[in-house]
Amino acid sequence: MTVYVHPDEISKKHGILLSAEKSRYLVTVLRSKEGDEINVIDGRGRAYRACIASASKKNVSINIIEEVFPQNESSIKIVLCQGMLKGEKMDMVIQKAVELGASAVIPLVTERTIPRHTAKISRWQKIAEEAAEQCGRAVVPDIKEPAEYKDFLEGLTNYCGIIFWEQGGIKLSEALKRTVPGSRGRCESLYVVVGPEGGLSEHEVSVAEAAGFIRVSLGKRILRAETAAIVAVAAVGLMIDDIEAQACSS
Ligand code: SAH
Repeated sequence: MTVYVHPDEISKKHGILLSAEKSRYLVTVLRSKEGDEINVIDGRGRAYRACIASASKKNVSINIIEEVFPQNESSIKIVLCQGMLKGEKMDMVIQKAVELGASAVIPLVTERTIPRHTAKISRWQKIAEEAAEQCGRAVVPDIKEPAEYKDFLEGLTNYCGIIFWEQGGIKLSEALKRTVPGSRGRCESLYVVVGPEGGLSEHEVSVAEAAGFIRVSLGKRILRAETAAIVAVAAVGLMIDDIEAQACSS
């Protein structure tokens, strides 16, 4: 079991009092009790082994035992730039992207985006927090404010990017060979653009290409946007790990 605690509240000397909501979850759902071990993450990459010092339904306090170093972050940051989807689909994409290793999500307002007014950053951030706890990541990915597509492209610096287009592009493995460490190029963050339900226009793809993005295919069939987003982050994450492992062993 892993709980997120804001870094300001983590102290090795004093106990940490968990929120009423987290306390209730631990005690009533997970049946946690005094003496149980628990993992604590600060959401920014640090993680600790801790134990429960006292537990009641509203108040759980824990003591840090030692810092631990989970090795579950990708060497290159994957930023999912997602054409905003309707309601629950966006929630699901955020949850799965966090599980699959994305380091941030940028909701994009594109030509064919419909839900312009339904952005709920705090709700999405909470989904990201819970997903990070669930999968034991020490990093809680940042869910950014929705950005207009044009502003998003103009605001990028020092980046690599790929854009998935339903009308075709090069193979993902080829695109990644050009970008990830251990191969020709190197970049800290890889921006991965996936369109909304209505897809990406040819113009949007060509301005991204002009900004240095590589146009990539996700295979022979057109996927639903939410499927595409999940597959994109999963495939990018797995291939980056493979390329890295090969680079280390050669
Ligand atoms: N409504 C559109 C499809 C949109 S799919 C149509 O019928 O043509 C939504 C997004 O998922 C796309 O913009 C793209 O980013 C991604 N996507 C879906 N299938 C894909 C594929 N085969 N290759 C690359 N990207 C794909």
